[in-house]
Amino acid sequence: MRIHELKQRLQLAGAGPSHEQRILRSWCHALPRNAGKRSPETFFPSALMAALPAIEAELAGLARITAVHPGEDGSERLLVTLADGQTVESVLLPREGLCVSSQVGCAVGCRFCMTGRDGLLRQVGSAEIVAQVALARARRPVRKVVFMGMGEPAHNLDNVLEAIELLGTIGNIGHKNLVFSTVGGPRAFERLHRSAVKPALALSLHTTRLELRRQLLPRAPDMTPEELVEASERYARATGYPVQYQWALLEGVNDGDEEIEGLVRLLAGKYGVLNLIPFNAVDGADYQRPTQERCEHLARELHRRGILTKLRWSAGQDVEGGCGQLRARAGLAQMV
Ligand code: SF4
Repeated sequence: MRIHELKQRLQLAGAGPSHEQRILRSWCHALPRNAGKRSPETFFPSALMAALPAIEAELAGLARITAVHPGEDGSERLLVTLADGQTVESVLLPREGLCVSSQVGCAVGCRFCMTGRDGLLRQVGSAEIVAQVALARARRPVRKVVFMGMGEPAHNLDNVLEAIELLGTIGNIGHKNLVFSTVGGPRAFERLHRSAVKPALALSLHTTRLELRRQLLPRAPDMTPEELVEASERYARATGYPVQYQWALLEGVNDGDEEIEGLVRLLAGKYGVLNLIPFNAVDGADYQRPTQERCEHLARELHRRGILTKLRWSAGQDVEGGCGQLRARAGLAQMV
């Protein structure tokens, strides 16, 4: 179900704007129907009251949590089963963050990613994205939503931007706390500029070398690193939110001194932060994580050269961190 279809259903059942807002607010904040000062019975039309149980049942059936893996760092990795039996992952992060999935599988096929191995299975609908937030909020508060789970948000723009619009208004999430994480692409940049709710941007850069990028992200749009940084910079200046440049650190691949030089050339003076994320080893992966000393050296050296750099050990590592790993593990368990 898409959010605009849900709104149409409510309107057909007699909902006016205030009724619709009340229902959507209860849903995306995981509140019971009777929460709030006025009980719905006192101001909802009777036709809407009659239709509501079926609509609420459908919303509740969009997604359910079928496995929870708590981590030592306070994260919780949730396996979420959708109505058709497909599964995605959400991760509750420390400090009231939530990472959601925007696709079942992914077509980009990044070489270091478990999700990319199966290709794209299907899009996640806008209501299913909000349902991930509602499920998480039933467990603990959520004030930040990052689209860094399974899938490439730029390949599911209509659903992702529709969910972002609801979360950034009725869902009460600050716009800079909605993070659209993408490999980039002209259409995505153009739509973000036009979006009513403008999220912050995280750009998956991973290398400053075009040929290596083509190898690592084989089906990402063919923009050069220079073009990606330029488009990201324009968006950051337009919104006032710095870009988060994402960089999965792979030993012997993109952790060399030539990348330091490339990063200084590309990012010096730009409105952004570079997040170095040491690769989280996956069974059967061709890549390794650089040593801690190497990771720290890179972060220090880039910082010294004027690039605002953060070394981030990804949340949930001890709970099969890395997108798609829990789902893959569940799939294996089902096959056994
Ligand atoms: Fe897709 Fe992201 Fe995995 Fe790349 S890293 S294959 S964009 S889910």
